[in-house]
Amino acid sequence: MRINALPSGNGFNFEISHAPEKSLARVGTISTPHGDIATPAFIPVGTKATVKAVLPETMKELGAQALLSNAYHLYLQPGPDALDEAGGLARFMNWPGPTFTDSGGFQVLSLGVGFKKVLAMDAQTFRSDDVIAGNKERLAHVDDEGVTFKSHLDGSMHRFTPEVSMQVQHKIGADIIFAFDECTTLHNTRKYQEKALERTRLWGIRCLDEHQKLTLERSEKPYQALYGVIQGAQYEDLRKKAATDMAALRSTDPDSPIGFDGFGLGGALDKKTLGTILTWMNEILPAQKPRHLLGIGAPEDLFVGVENGIDTFDCVLASRIARTSAVYTMVGRNNLSNAINRRAFEPIDDECDCYTCANYTKAYLHHVFRGKEIIAATLATIHNERFIVRLVDQMRAALISGDYFEFKEQFMGRYKHLSGQARD
Ligand SMILES: [Zn+2]
Repeated sequence: MRINALPSGNGFNFEISHAPEKSLARVGTISTPHGDIATPAFIPVGTKATVKAVLPETMKELGAQALLSNAYHLYLQPGPDALDEAGGLARFMNWPGPTFTDSGGFQVLSLGVGFKKVLAMDAQTFRSDDVIAGNKERLAHVDDEGVTFKSHLDGSMHRFTPEVSMQVQHKIGADIIFAFDECTTLHNTRKYQEKALERTRLWGIRCLDEHQKLTLERSEKPYQALYGVIQGAQYEDLRKKAATDMAALRSTDPDSPIGFDGFGLGGALDKKTLGTILTWMNEILPAQKPRHLLGIGAPEDLFVGVENGIDTFDCVLASRIARTSAVYTMVGRNNLSNAINRRAFEPIDDECDCYTCANYTKAYLHHVFRGKEIIAATLATIHNERFIVRLVDQMRAALISGDYFEFKEQFMGRYKHLSGQARD
């Protein structure tokens, strides 16, 4: 077992308590000014400062340790000044714990080129017309200085630069913020990936400079930790170069250059090679700094992340699919709207310990989904978020007790088996 602590006097700290041999997995604690996060942990997403359909108190009760919101959406509405005046994101949304904000880079670019809402992870089914919708107006333009984009809300023009992203995220006031990066897809050319990577590296320096300046200027505010983002798509040399570069990156302040407090692993990732790609990066990144895998949250991918050195995850999937009546169970996904659930007077999953499973049947959920009742989204979201939060908590417990791979085999044996059968 190795013990690593990152000394820090600013309220942000990461301490590894368990690091099993022969694996990149680790168990630790991220400390922030708004509280601690026991890792590995799943961080539910509240894009616009709300986890849709669920109260913050309920999120806390179901085990969420932190929430992640999005700087792009909050920039457009209600605007960073409103959040700053409110006392920051956590206070504004009545969330009694740590918060993250995604830099907005992904949204600026994804809403700009007409991506589907979810970046497909399987390259085989990832058609180019999914990436760039032919009939959709291009809403974003990237250059070396930043990104100009049109608001998807009212068509107004805006510009994000690394400096603007830092200013916006400082005003929003989350505990953990991300550097502004250019998020590419698996379908960009190798040459374009190289160019985007260098751009992201240079933007990283500008983010560090602006972050350092704002941290000093706003020294009365709680400290915000800045994570650098590692891109490089599916290319081994580019991923390794990005990890090496980002780990070494420092602000230009000659007296006290600062580096990143942690790292976000980003980009379109192919499900089949996820583990390999994470290994390329995590073998290079400094072990004592936390690593966040951006936008990944399917059960099978969470295992791959944890055993390859990821500390935190975020993903909108759990709540987004819940609102379409899709729920996780120990034996795979179920769709509550299906007729088979009409007289299923039993919980979604009898092994689940969530509020919904303790109090409601699939038959009732089927009824409220069919009737388009608002409570349907609430109950299904509570279950899905609890399922994913608990799964990662169980991985953490299994890493501590030393039976992680037994736990994984047991879980995946049942989960994959029936979810495969359920596919038509
Ligand atoms: Zn449940």
